[in-house]
Amino acid sequence: MRICVLASGSKGNCTFIEGENTRILIDAGLTKAEIENRLKIIGIDPNSIDSILVTHEHNDHIKGLGAFSRAHNCKIFAHPDTWAAMQEKVGTLDTSKRIGIYGNDFVINELTISSFDLSHDSAHCLGFSVYEDKKKFSIATDLGFIDDNIIKQLADSSLVVLESNHDITRLMQNPHYPILLKKRILSKRGHLNNKDSAEAVLKMLGYGIRGLIAGHLSEENNTPELVLKTLKNTVANQGGDLAKELYVDIAKQHHVGNIYRIKS
Ligand SMILES: [Zn+2]
Ligand SMILES: [Zn+2]
Repeated sequence: MRICVLASGSKGNCTFIEGENTRILIDAGLTKAEIENRLKIIGIDPNSIDSILVTHEHNDHIKGLGAFSRAHNCKIFAHPDTWAAMQEKVGTLDTSKRIGIYGNDFVINELTISSFDLSHDSAHCLGFSVYEDKKKFSIATDLGFIDDNIIKQLADSSLVVLESNHDITRLMQNPHYPILLKKRILSKRGHLNNKDSAEAVLKMLGYGIRGLIAGHLSEENNTPELVLKTLKNTVANQGGDLAKELYVDIAKQHHVGNIYRIKS
């Protein structure tokens, strides 16, 4: 299985996943042209994308969804509440391309997908684990808090994309953010802060995670350095050494990320 985060953050999210014979995207939050452009950068023909899984209806996750699906004949998988909320923005679609996610595992050719609920201020918000044989990749962004159920869902993934949205102090001190927006981001239905994310990663270390991509970083209220520092200190406080225990990468907003191959 190959994975590449094509974009991550409040200006657009899109992740590419490839099994033996099947290529899918999770979210299509860039314009159609930009998704095509980023796929071409990694040598992927946009027409070869089979399906798109949608986490939730916020624009940074569905901006190019309808247009990309129509242009490249992709199926779209989303929770019924998400379908209802994004109907207008997505536009006309062949009914055979609209597929509901009802909480059970489902398959797209050789890939098995498991969805799980995240707490976020959208009609519904899902995280996903994608399996191919024993290979497992998971993604959880846009969540106000993380609990043991979600951590268990991420367990045993070779690679996890987990939100690390903001540094609380930086957000609180940001003069450009109105108080209501700050409250929204900090709430249990907002976005995961660096500290909560790092504590979740610390718990996951005991569950066989090999690689982490910190995602959905705020460009105003966070930096890759702050994310790494928080992770390193959180693991060090428990007597661990992050560099020895986990491969860590930071997902990018404006550039295609590294391509990862999960072998087993
Ligand atoms: Zn988002
Ligand atoms: Zn969102």
